[in-house]
Amino acid sequence: MIYNEEFETLPREVLEVLQLKRLQQVVQRVYHTVPFYKEAFDKAGVSPNIKSLDELRHFPFTTKNDLRDNYPFGLFAVPMDRVVRLHASSGTTGSSTVVGYTKRDIENWSELMARCFFGAGLTQNDIVHNAYGYGLFTGGLGVHYGIEKLGASVIPMSGGNTKRQIMLLQDFGPTAICCTPSYALTLAEQGEAMGIDMRKLKLRVGILGAEPWSETLRKQIEDALDITAMNIYGLSEIMGPGVAMECAEGKEGMHVFEDHFLVEVIDPATGDVLPPGEEGEVVFTTLTKEAFPLIRYRTRDLSRLIPEPCVCGRSLYRLERVMGRSDDMLIIRGVNVFPSQIEDVLVGIDGLDPHYQLVVNRQGTLDTIEVKVEVNDRLFSKADEIKTLQKIEQKIIKDLKDFLGVTAKVKLVEPNSLPRFEGKASRVIDNRKF
Ligand code: ADP
Ligand code: ZN
Repeated sequence: MIYNEEFETLPREVLEVLQLKRLQQVVQRVYHTVPFYKEAFDKAGVSPNIKSLDELRHFPFTTKNDLRDNYPFGLFAVPMDRVVRLHASSGTTGSSTVVGYTKRDIENWSELMARCFFGAGLTQNDIVHNAYGYGLFTGGLGVHYGIEKLGASVIPMSGGNTKRQIMLLQDFGPTAICCTPSYALTLAEQGEAMGIDMRKLKLRVGILGAEPWSETLRKQIEDALDITAMNIYGLSEIMGPGVAMECAEGKEGMHVFEDHFLVEVIDPATGDVLPPGEEGEVVFTTLTKEAFPLIRYRTRDLSRLIPEPCVCGRSLYRLERVMGRSDDMLIIRGVNVFPSQIEDVLVGIDGLDPHYQLVVNRQGTLDTIEVKVEVNDRLFSKADEIKTLQKIEQKIIKDLKDFLGVTAKVKLVEPNSLPRFEGKASRVIDNRKF
């Protein structure tokens, strides 16, 4: 289902004409209103009179550090009297960054969120349980406005209070849920512990995102809640949730709303633009944002573009599932690995629950990793069979080595002994001193 047929299916040549027009406007605007950009463009010797999309590759990047240096409002491109909303990123990596929106920005954001929901098969007949955190985090309110824009009913639940969430899931009978994948798991697990058959709820769709998760975890969540779980991507700096979203027909890769965001994938080491299809760091330029436009923002998220046409009919390129960002990549004895890849291996092994923690240490010059993972209740009740546990331990060690090339220490732990998360999961304990 396509919410904005006109803009989501534009032939690529037409889309590119629109992108160029919007790019020309935003580049001019930031050059004349934000001192940071004037200085950066002048220094790089690029003119704001941009003639083709291709010229963008010569423009300087904007980084999280630039945002920090201009904290809080230094990169805003409109006077404060036009700003109607402020948000701040959750600060998963370092101090938070502040973003602002005009009325128009909020309208556009709501429409893009509505596109996501409609694309996932939701209509005004749906009731949506929104368990993303409300507040400075963009997740809660971003999703909220999108549901209202679509005309569905929103339950503004926010995060936390898991028992109450489960009660309302039963009583209000929402047909869709929005939260992080890790929280979807927590809900499934708590519900089961309360003796509730979570598969019997009216839920049929989950719009899950805000953190990396694997295809295997998707299957587990779909199975535990009897829903279709869809992947949604976004980041506060660029807008919040709704920058890209899977479609129900393809369910493979997330369509980037390219009429609002220009996406590039670059080689993170050289900064060169890579051809579509190659993996690298994702870089966005906002094309329509008024309050807080960003030119060539380096997300540090690693992915690749899927330029092949999608069965759904959208002409928008897709972004492959983001497995992590360059700054949460672990380098264990020279092997690059993301926590989400380890998750993928763990979730594929029988007898384990998808709750794990990675402890990274440094011994001398060597990095070591310990994987702690919960065994499930069924297995744990048979734990006297130490052999079974040993076998699983051996299997994890072998699979991590075979699939990822990582040598790990493995520790099986009791069900429910590792932390649970209401928002974004934080599973890595890095004891290395840099
Ligand atoms: P913070 O940078 O403080 O975490 P955000 O809440 O803006 O702030 O988080 C955005 C980041 O979350 C993205 O850059 C990306 O790394 C991650 N993210 C969001 N959605 C997804 C998703 N569907 N899959 C993988 N990672 C995601
Ligand atoms: Zn599609």
